[in-house]
Amino acid sequence: MRLELCEIIDIPGESRPFDYELDKAALEFDSVLEYEGPVRAFGTVENEAGMMILKGELDADMRCRCDRCLAEFEKHLRLNVAATLVEELPDEDDSELYLIDGTQIDLDEIFITAFVLNMEQVTLCKEDCRGLCPTCGKNLNEGPCDCRAEGDPRLAVLRQLLENN
Ligand SMILES: [Zn+2]
Ligand SMILES: [Zn+2]
Repeated sequence: MRLELCEIIDIPGESRPFDYELDKAALEFDSVLEYEGPVRAFGTVENEAGMMILKGELDADMRCRCDRCLAEFEKHLRLNVAATLVEELPDEDDSELYLIDGTQIDLDEIFITAFVLNMEQVTLCKEDCRGLCPTCGKNLNEGPCDCRAEGDPRLAVLRQLLENN
């Protein structure tokens, strides 16, 4: 969505709220199986003494797949998003600066970028997820598997020593 800023762009102290749904087609990630309900982006753009400041939040309920153990789980995502909107981008890279196009700002660009950056981190069902046994594939969150001892390289060395004697 494009937000029109002409009414606040020259008037310090003025602000403009927004609240809309992001297009889920732009939000496809391997670890997200499904979105439950709308993906909402809301907040305000405020003219703070001539600086155009966006403060917003992104809100989504989704069913995810754990990157480590492949279990499905529900996740409520709430992301704070902040950006400074400028009429000219400086030469150096600043990821929090976004260009105002005429008198409008592309909210999708800001919120989709924030979402993508967040999804680049690993998605885990819990922080200390134990994952799957590389040998038998058992979900180790549900308890140890039988082949765990065999798979330990230190024990394999020991076993070889015993066999050689
Ligand atoms: Zn997991
Ligand atoms: Zn195993």
